[in-house]
Amino acid sequence: MNTNRRKKILVTGGAGFIGSHLCEKLLNQGHEVTCLDNFFTGTKDNIIHLLDNPYFELVRHDITMPFYIEVDQIYNLACPASPVHYQHNAIKTIKTSVMGAINMLGLAKRTNARILQASTSEVYGDPFIHPQTEDYWGNVNPIGPRSCYDEGKRCAESLFMNYHIQNDVDIKIIRIFNTYGPKMQPNDGRVISNFIFQAVENKDITIYGDGSQSRSFQFVDDLIDAMILMMNTDPSVLGPINIGNPIEYTIKELAQKIVDLTHSKSKIIYLEKPIDDPNQRQPNISTATKTLNGWKPKVELNEGLEKTIAYFKERQ
Ligand code: NAD
Ligand code: UDP
Ligand code: UDP
Repeated sequence: MNTNRRKKILVTGGAGFIGSHLCEKLLNQGHEVTCLDNFFTGTKDNIIHLLDNPYFELVRHDITMPFYIEVDQIYNLACPASPVHYQHNAIKTIKTSVMGAINMLGLAKRTNARILQASTSEVYGDPFIHPQTEDYWGNVNPIGPRSCYDEGKRCAESLFMNYHIQNDVDIKIIRIFNTYGPKMQPNDGRVISNFIFQAVENKDITIYGDGSQSRSFQFVDDLIDAMILMMNTDPSVLGPINIGNPIEYTIKELAQKIVDLTHSKSKIIYLEKPIDDPNQRQPNISTATKTLNGWKPKVELNEGLEKTIAYFKERQ
């Protein structure tokens, strides 16, 4: 495939946090982009600045239903990502991951399009192996409150691999670790958006548990670079590949950092920790660096937080 020619690209979940950054970057690279979204957690505000571009098209559609279009590439991102949102209608979350993957893989099969799945570090569950490598099979509770998301995404990975093996569909799978940045919704429920929203409003900062659990936070621009590199790798590269920033922070450290950066008067309070909340999460990214021409995250947490805080303040 000639990577320089203008391509027709479908981005499902394109009005969401990550999807809207991806649509913008692909348009800037000269491609024609169709953004498909049912606006469950995404918003028109995220992509409003793209609507005048003649190479951009917005379609309101739910990927649990079949969808017909002629495209060269599909980025499959449609799925609520915040625990608050994906647990709101757990059955719908499973349908989105599983039926959505079947429909998008059927579309890729019919059109010979290449398709990339936005999988997640959650496939590792509450991991026994640290940092997580791609060959670790994970520790997931199949009937717990997070299972609609974790098991949905695991089933989607299986569908991708089996469509490749059985039907020769050209697939790529990336496992995304916690990502943050501008265009996260203030009511999104994830830790960085919650803490920044609380800090700029001088409201209490809510740590769940004692704050000793850790996560590794990746700025959205680094993820978008890796996604596009992965999509354009040789057909023999299937993944799954971890994409994340390996520098790990405890949730307590993160809260303090956000209070300091915002000069907030907020006080930190401690609430109950949700069931099955993973204790630790950190990607091993050596496969990504080897496969994606030396790709590594470039944006440090302080720099990324400052950009995200500026975005939240602008919208205050
Ligand atoms: P988001 O909630 O901002 O975006 C998801 C988008 O999908 C929204 O615009 C939503 O309206 C849309 N959507 C949901 N269900 C749909 C359906 N049935 N049909 C059509 N559209 C639907 O979340 P995000 O952070 O941008 O995540 C995007 C993708 O990346 C998700 O698949 C998520 O699982 C994955 N991911 C994100 C992270 C992260 O830290 N942000 C980590 C791992 C994986
Ligand atoms: N599908 C779609 N768009 C297409 C082609 C297929 O949404 O352009 C859907 C189709 O409705 C089907 C699913 O993708 O339910 C899986 O397609 P596949 O060809 O694998 O299965 P089949 O049609 O044989 O059930
Ligand atoms: N968390 C928190 N306060 C909040 C939101 C989240 O302490 O207001 C914690 C949450 O319990 C988890 C971590 O921060 O341990 C990351 O949560 P998030 O929902 O962002 O991502 P995930 O758990 O899916 O990695």
